[in-house]
Amino acid sequence: MALDTGLDRELSAIRAYDNVHWFHPWENLPQAGQQNRTIVTRGEGIHIYDETGRKLIDGPGGMWCVQVGYGNAEIVMAIAEQAMVMPYNNPFGTASGPAAKLCRKLAEIAPGDLDHVFLTTGGSTAVDTAARFVHFYNNIRGRPTKKIILAREDSYHGSTYLSASLSGKVGNKSHFDHDARLVDFLPSANYYRFGKGKTEAEFCDGLIQALRDRIKELGAENIGAFIAEPIQASGGVIVAPEGYLKRTYDICREHDILYVSDEVVTGFGRLGHWFASKDVFGIEPDIITCAKGLTSGYLPLGAAIVSKRLYADITNDNAKGSYFANGYTYSGHPVSSACALKNIEVFEKTGLLEHVRKVAPLFQARMRALKSIPIVGDVRGMGLVGCVDCRVSTDDTDPWNPRHKLGARIDRHCNALGLLVRPIINMCVFSPPLIITEAQIEEMFAILEKGLKATMDELVREGIWKG
Ligand code: PLP
Repeated sequence: MALDTGLDRELSAIRAYDNVHWFHPWENLPQAGQQNRTIVTRGEGIHIYDETGRKLIDGPGGMWCVQVGYGNAEIVMAIAEQAMVMPYNNPFGTASGPAAKLCRKLAEIAPGDLDHVFLTTGGSTAVDTAARFVHFYNNIRGRPTKKIILAREDSYHGSTYLSASLSGKVGNKSHFDHDARLVDFLPSANYYRFGKGKTEAEFCDGLIQALRDRIKELGAENIGAFIAEPIQASGGVIVAPEGYLKRTYDICREHDILYVSDEVVTGFGRLGHWFASKDVFGIEPDIITCAKGLTSGYLPLGAAIVSKRLYADITNDNAKGSYFANGYTYSGHPVSSACALKNIEVFEKTGLLEHVRKVAPLFQARMRALKSIPIVGDVRGMGLVGCVDCRVSTDDTDPWNPRHKLGARIDRHCNALGLLVRPIINMCVFSPPLIITEAQIEEMFAILEKGLKATMDELVREGIWKG
């Protein structure tokens, strides 16, 4: 019989409180109160430990965010020191050293002329701020009809009312209301799912034509901005066909439509650069939104970085006496800002961006090799982010079919083998801490391979795999 230690009682209490009182993001309501989630107790490097003391590789890197890994003492000390000296300041009327220095640093590492930083509390509020800015900007400039924001199917931009309205993942819309007046959705860039019978170049041409058609239909005078994740992350790590982002960007320029690049996932090293927009995809957006890796998840923080040109268009003599009446009690939080500054310093000191560029080819090659397992329909990714998209038959390309929940099955097998994955219906996505070594990448994919094969065997046994 297991000994009833105080620790066991404490864990049972936490589980009960969690089941009964914690209303989680994406709460699975039919199973409310019975989730019995893994209780995470601590983290170190790329690993987390569960309540039984089991060590697991953190495949999703928290929620695409723990870039420098767990237990970074320098970041923890920077947080503690700032909290001791000045834990909070009112950002509406005062400034602080950490926030001002962070804005300057972000202006330095952001592409093009992006040099005005609006600090927020996370990614959703960064996107919300960017969208509100687009409307405000056009109103001030005497173009009040430019309201529609073009977004894409399969995108995810956040959970505030506005950022959720801009998100195109159909599965997240059930029983929620959204502001449909403000957004128009373009097709998803998922070639595997939607490109049947076409070459990738033809598929890309179709997407570009769809953008041109929508602009013609809606009228550029009614379109404020186009928002796009450089890689559609939560939509299943959708990497658009070669040249797509640049072509959409050029069309936006041609039609005086602002371009918002949502780099909440792709920013801060995920693709081996501070930001992917220019360094990877050759575009200089008007606004970049970021969060997550900005603090490596140690504290909440986000930012909407706005171009100098746009800022000049609405300030001083152009301001028409207005205020940008948008902001949060915790905009520019000094402790979060100190955390972000130290996080960026750790990136620089340890050469983390270079490290990602060095190990990413192995990560991508190991992931692509998984395609030989029949349930794996597609593998997608770039840098240190990837997705394994699974199926129950060779003609099944719908990652959202909820019937078999292949992701949860893979998660169960991999968890037992020491790897945490992030299941999204029939997909599993990966974005491990960027400090992951080549040996750890090998270990991670060896486990994933075993987990996928065990899932395949299970599907065959249960007669689900149709071949
Ligand atoms: N934008 C993108 C591309 C995201 O992936 C996310 C979250 O996953 C968000 C915005 C929202 O960020 P947050 O959860 O910090 O509000």
